[in-house]
Amino acid sequence: MNLPRTDKPRIVVIGGGFAGLNLAKSLNTRKYQIVLLDRNNYHTFQPLMYQVASAGLEPDSIAYPLRKKFRNMKSVHFRIADVIRVDSKEKSITTSIGELSYDYLVIATGAKTNFFGMENVEKFSMPMKSLVESLNLRSRILEQFEEALIQEQVSEVNKRLTFVIAGGGATGVELAGALSELKNKILPKDYPDLDIRNMSIHIIEGSDRLLSAMSLKSSHKAEKFLKKLGVNIWTSKRVKDYDGETVLTADGMEIPTKTLIWAAGVEANPIDGFQAEDFNRSRFLIDPHCQLINHANIYAIGDVAALASKDKKPLPMLASVAMQQGNYLAKYFNKNRKFREFKYIDKGTMATIGRNKAVVDLGRFKFQGTMAWFVWMFVHVMLLVGFRNRMIVLVNWFWNYISYNNGSRLIIRKSRENHLLSELQKDEKLTHS
Ligand SMILES: Cc1cc2nc3c(=O)[nH]c(=O)nc-3n(C[C@H](O)[C@H](O)[C@H](O)COP(=O)(O)OP(=O)(O)OC[C@H]3O[C@@H](n4cnc5c(N)ncnc54)[C@H](O)[C@@H]3O)c2cc1C
Repeated sequence: MNLPRTDKPRIVVIGGGFAGLNLAKSLNTRKYQIVLLDRNNYHTFQPLMYQVASAGLEPDSIAYPLRKKFRNMKSVHFRIADVIRVDSKEKSITTSIGELSYDYLVIATGAKTNFFGMENVEKFSMPMKSLVESLNLRSRILEQFEEALIQEQVSEVNKRLTFVIAGGGATGVELAGALSELKNKILPKDYPDLDIRNMSIHIIEGSDRLLSAMSLKSSHKAEKFLKKLGVNIWTSKRVKDYDGETVLTADGMEIPTKTLIWAAGVEANPIDGFQAEDFNRSRFLIDPHCQLINHANIYAIGDVAALASKDKKPLPMLASVAMQQGNYLAKYFNKNRKFREFKYIDKGTMATIGRNKAVVDLGRFKFQGTMAWFVWMFVHVMLLVGFRNRMIVLVNWFWNYISYNNGSRLIIRKSRENHLLSELQKDEKLTHS
């Protein structure tokens, strides 16, 4: 790979997500040559992807060009590359644009959707783990209303107006809230020829409550908010199959629908070249300095890494963990790898259900409703990368709040074409490997 020659040790960072970006921007460029690799040329703010999918925000406002972030840091070299394999003995990596050697390697490749081996679900459902998938979902949702308009049979109309979300975690809850807002406030004006009251939204959750990672109080309040908005909540049920027409649960419930949104699980997204003993499930096992337990000079941070916490459970896959690990590792390298161990500071969890409705758990403080909604908005705006993005999101939210008329209800690419395209890409990958 073509990179400037230097005497400085080279740190290669794979992934410009929350972990990789926070690391790369804080490393001392006088001490190290930094090479940042990502398969995309932008950072994605995943917590707001559901607003792109539900036509609340433009995709550009939650993505940030990685080159722009590093234009004043001459010793940070960004390349668009898909990293395929690590050779820890040779201290080199294989990428889609060639081989690259490293002195230190940091793997920050995040997570990917976990379909738990259900092939049909993978084929027919809509995941939301990338910006492209969020846009595909937006198209799919809007297409359903266009198609419903031209159906003659009531059952076919209803199938298109039924939206099933698998997974009642923060993503599922937030998406259900956003879809209800579309149903109650926006779509009736866009589709006067369609009886939008027939639109139904379902959440199917495997555990016995929504937001199972949050307090009972927040969980119950979220359920109450969603029920008030008309969302159907099915707990202690698991999706077993989906053929593109009907969702089937393990206990035999069937829901006819053209749209199953898959928000029921993620797994780490590691790189090839390692052994089973390097992993806890699919997450790299790391020590308290974020170093792989079996490999000197290789580190892993963010969703792809499993650092045991005090109670021996791996830390949750959260942006706050990824950011703190990125910041920590930068200090660790800047202090010549003589630095205290990483300690996670739990800054709480939150989820929003819609306007004036959110739930927040901040240590002993748990609150819900309008105050929680303002806290949720403030935290998310502050965490967005780039002043311009913050302003755009704020203006959009303000406009949506007063006008009930967000302006991104565009079908840019047909979701059927997108699906075929990703199937083709999968086939191509299989042929190459
Ligand atoms: C819909 C959704 C909502 C969420 N909401 C919240 C929330 O409200 N609060 C919260 O704390 N967390 C939330 N999360 C989780 C949070 O987004 C993740 O914990 C966080 O993104 C992890 O950061 P990371 O840097 O480990 O990975 P990511 O941010 O996923 O970044 C990984 C990067 O690696 C790149 N990459 C992957 N593989 C390769 C490869 N082989 N070669 C090159 N590049 C590669 C990717 O392109 C990506 O840029 C949400 C996640 C999702 C999907």
